Amino acid sequence: MVLSIPNLKKNIPLAPFTTYKIGGPADWFVEVHTTEELTQAVLEAKRRKTPYFLLGCGANILFTDKGFRGLVIRNLANKTTFLEKNKLVAESGAIIGDLLNLCYQRGLSGFEHFVDIPSTVGGAIWQNLHFLSPDRKHTIFISGIVSKSRILAEDGNSTTVDGEYFRFGYDTSILHKQKDIVLDVTFQLSQKPKSEIKSVMEANREWRKTKQPQLPEFPSCGSVFKKIEDVGAGRLIEQAGLKGMRIGDAEISGKHANFIVNLGNAKANDVLALIQYTQKTVKEKSGYSLNTEIMVVGEP
Ligand SMILES: Cc1cc2nc3c(=O)[nH]c(=O)nc-3n(C[C@H](O)[C@H](O)[C@H](O)COP(=O)(O)OP(=O)(O)OC[C@H]3O[C@@H](n4cnc5c(N)ncnc54)[C@H](O)[C@@H]3O)c2cc1C
Repeated sequence: MVLSIPNLKKNIPLAPFTTYKIGGPADWFVEVHTTEELTQAVLEAKRRKTPYFLLGCGANILFTDKGFRGLVIRNLANKTTFLEKNKLVAESGAIIGDLLNLCYQRGLSGFEHFVDIPSTVGGAIWQNLHFLSPDRKHTIFISGIVSKSRILAEDGNSTTVDGEYFRFGYDTSILHKQKDIVLDVTFQLSQKPKSEIKSVMEANREWRKTKQPQLPEFPSCGSVFKKIEDVGAGRLIEQAGLKGMRIGDAEISGKHANFIVNLGNAKANDVLALIQYTQKTVKEKSGYSLNTEIMVVGEP
C-alpha cells in the first residue's frame, strides 16, 4: 500500500501523542496543519481503502500495545477567526484552552467552564465536552455554544451543518455513529466582564485540583467509566474498596476512583485488565454495570 500524503511517516509510536502516554506504533502517521491537509489525508485513506484514525489531543482514547494498523492523522489545524456578533470560527485541531485564552482577552464568555480539560475542537464535538456549572448543580456542555460547523461528510463531500445536526447527548454526538470529520466550528459567545470569566476559571481549576489527579504528573484519560445518574461511578468503585488497586503500573487513583492513572510504564493491557477487574468487582458488590467512557483503539 502506498499512500500519497506529504510528510507521511512509518511505524511511529503513539504513546507520546496521548495524555495516557500509552500505545504501540501506527503503521502510518501524519501531522496535518490545515483543514485542506486534513481533508486530503482523509480522502487519500478512503481512496486507498486504508483504515484511518483521526487523533486530537488523545485525551479520551487508549491505544492498544500493538498499536494501529493503518493511518493515524494527528490534527494540528488550528486557525481561528473572530467574526462580528461575538462569533469565533476555529479549525478542528484548535485547542480548547487556547480558545479560552483568546476569548478571555476579548471579554468573551463560553469556554471558561472547560478550563484545563485537554481537548481539540474536534474531540470536544465528538464527546460533547462538559463540566459542572459554577453552582455545581447542573452540567454545561460545549453544544450550548456551537452555532454551525463545516464537516467532511462520510461520503467525502464537505458541507455546512448547524449544531442540531450533531444530535448531542451526554458524552455523545452523531460522530459516534457516523464517520464525519469536523473541519471547523463556529462558536457563539457572549460578552462578559473579564473578572466574571476569570472567577469561573479559577473556581473550576481549584475544584479540579482538589478532586482529580492532575496532568502531567498523573497521565490519564480522565474518567474511565460513564456517569451513573444519582449514583456516581467513582463512588461505586470507592465503595467496592478499589481505590489504590494496581495492575502493573496502572492504578485506580486514590484521589478520584473513576480515574485510572499511569504511574510511569503502564501498558494498555494493564489498564484494560484493571478496567475488567473493576467492572466485575463493582457488579458483584453493588449490582451496577460500569460502561467505559474512553475509547480503546488499535489492534487487540
Ligand atoms: C485529566 C483529564 C480530565 C478530563 N476531564 C474531562 C471533563 O471534565 N469533561 C469532559 O467532557 N471530558 C474530560 N476529559 C476527556 C477529554 O478531555 C475529552 O473527551 C476531549 O474532548 C477529548 O478531545 P481530544 O481532542 O483529545 O480527542 P481524542 O481523544 O484525540 O479523540 C476522541 C475521539 O474524537 C474523534 N475526533 C477528534 N477530532 C475529530 C474531528 N475533527 N472530527 C471528527 N472526530 C474527531 C477521534 O477520532 C476520537 O474518536 C478529560 C480528560 C483528561 C485526560
